[in-house]
Amino acid sequence: MRLCCFNEARLGLVTDDKIVDVTSAIDFLPQHHYPFPNQDLFIANLDALKAKIELVAQKARSFNLDDVAFLPPVANPGKLIAAPVNYKKHLEEAQNQPELHRGNKIEEIQRVGLFLKATSSLIGPGARVKIRFPDRRNDHEIELAVIIGKTANNVKAKDALKYVAAYTIGLDMTVRGPEERSLRKSIDTYSVLGPWMVTADEFGDPSDADLILSVNGNLRQRANTRDLVIDVPHLIEFATKFYTLYPGDVFFTGTPNGVGPVVKGDKIVATISRIGTLNIEVE
Ligand code: MN
Repeated sequence: MRLCCFNEARLGLVTDDKIVDVTSAIDFLPQHHYPFPNQDLFIANLDALKAKIELVAQKARSFNLDDVAFLPPVANPGKLIAAPVNYKKHLEEAQNQPELHRGNKIEEIQRVGLFLKATSSLIGPGARVKIRFPDRRNDHEIELAVIIGKTANNVKAKDALKYVAAYTIGLDMTVRGPEERSLRKSIDTYSVLGPWMVTADEFGDPSDADLILSVNGNLRQRANTRDLVIDVPHLIEFATKFYTLYPGDVFFTGTPNGVGPVVKGDKIVATISRIGTLNIEVE
């Protein structure tokens, strides 16, 4: 199943070339009062909602893909977790450009660990990436993004994929400079997810997905997730040694080599096999 959020927080079921408005399925979510649970309620209840979504889709209106503005497929993630330098060729690329990483450790992910991006940085491709520091280099990073579906703590890699709800396309936008990653990658609009999520049962094996990113039609990044240094199950094992993952938490799994600068006016096109294509403009 392919699901999106669009326009004024509508819920969409993505079919071949249409988006079916299944927003009324949200009415079946359990009601909560303040303080709300620190997790995404839609993702937490996704398994139970699937049948409702299919039911309401039978009599729902639909939109053309080109006629909607996509929001992130997760509305309220509790955490945006990200893996630095998780492809070997990208590690070599980063270590060969020390001038871009003054003061920042560029080491193996096993030593550096994971970092967090502020949830306030999250947008969907219906919005634009807004450059905050045009005097510095701002880079694109295409990444397979994993949406956690169940509360996960001290999970072993062999069981980890049972905790995944869905996959989507992620852009971990970055301004270069001396500050911590968690600051430089948390600028408003610097975390892009979309255009929709593909549920784990439909997506299948996360260790064999092609990633391609171009800017203004020029190929920049091309890789396959089989080349991840730490694969998706082991990333979940790594993270849950430290903290609990909740439904709706999102994992940016790392970017391959080929990262490069973007400036105002650029058009980024990011494709991941078995998901689709994310188009977004930079301003
Ligand atoms: Mn990244």
